[in-house]
This record gives sequence, C-alpha cells and structure tokens, in this order.
Amino acid sequence: MKYYVLFGPPGAGKGTQAGAMVTRYHLCHLSTGELLRSEISAGTALGLQAKALIEAGNLVPDEVVEGMIEAKFLNTKGVEGFLLDGFPRTLAQADALDAMLAKTGQAVTACVSLMIPDALIHERIAHRATIEGRADDARPEIVENRIKTYHAKTEPLIEFYKKAGKYQEINGVGSIEEVQERIFRTMDQY
Ligand code: ADP
Repeated sequence: MKYYVLFGPPGAGKGTQAGAMVTRYHLCHLSTGELLRSEISAGTALGLQAKALIEAGNLVPDEVVEGMIEAKFLNTKGVEGFLLDGFPRTLAQADALDAMLAKTGQAVTACVSLMIPDALIHERIAHRATIEGRADDARPEIVENRIKTYHAKTEPLIEFYKKAGKYQEINGVGSIEEVQERIFRTMDQY
C-alpha cells in the first residue's frame, strides 16, 4: 500500500488537487477536515467537541484525528493506497502515523507538499469563503489564526519528512492544470 501525505498551508489547493490524484493512483482520499465537518453536521459528541476548536481556527486534539485515521485504515478495502489530506498536522501526529503503519511493516511513501506564499493563502481563502460557506473561512482573524497555527505546529513537518528523505515540494502557484501536471510528474516516480 502507498501512503501519501498531501501537505501544505490552508488554501494551498490540497482539496482541489486530491480528486485527480486519487483517480490516477487508485487511492482512498482521507481528509481530516472533511471527516471532522461531517461529524459536526451529524451532531456527534466528537463533532460537538471539534466545532468550537475549528471555528476558532485551532487544531482538534491529536488523539481525535489519529483515531479517525486508524479506523479508516482498518475499514477501507480495495484501494492501492491512501492520500492523507490535512493529516498529520503536528509532529506528534506524524510520529503516531509512523507507529500505526509500523504495526504492519509499512511506512509513509512520500510527502507531497504544495507550497504557496502567505499572501496567496489570504486571497484563496477569501475566494473560497464566497463559494463554500465554511465558518472557519469567513472571518479574517480566524484565517489569521489558522495561518499562525500552520507556521507554529505544522511547518516543522517539512524538516521531519526531509530528514526521512520523503519530502517532495511542488510549486502550488499556477493554474489547477499546471499544478496537477507537476504533482503527477512527482508521484509517477513512486
Ligand atoms: P484547511 O487545510 O483549509 O485549513 P481543513 O479542512 O484541512 O482545512 O481543516 C479544517 C480544520 O479542521 C483545521 O483548521 C483544524 O481545526 C481541523 N483539523 C483538520 N485536520 C486536523 C488535524 N490533523 N489535526 C488537528 N486538527 C485538524
């Protein structure tokens, strides 16, 4: 099984690019943001716990997302691998992922990192807010907090995957098709 980590700041285009990636490589797309949003709309206890954190632009606890991901690994059949979108987002989650996979002698295949400058993050999220209506996109101070959280807690993962020899950076500036082409060129190597 292949395990790709799709990495990048909020608004980098992970969700936009994921569809074509899962089709081409027969992967299961696991987006922790989407999984959490469906818990919220289903009104589960987990959703209730996550709602306030997400709407303030903070992360939900590591154990919560780790549990969701491991359950999906165990229950998903008939794919050639997984595309992890929005997970891991902290060093603790990256360690937990390695430990989860090591139980069955597996490992992360590669970290595909979509990079865009902070200025473009603001522009793209403001645009998405007019289309998708996500509560965490609507207020500039919340978006600001998500970007701060990204730099403080998530960005250290770049070094983590570089050290592991698994880091593949892709320029996320350009048209959807241009970025997709760059991603495919990288992933075709695995
Ligand atoms: P984006 O990439 O645009 O920030 P996501 O849909 O990936 O949006 O995530 C939305 C929110 O869900 C995050 O801001 C965070 O509160 C929560 N979340 C998603 N994934 C994780 C994770 N791996 N760990 C902790 N919180 C998460």
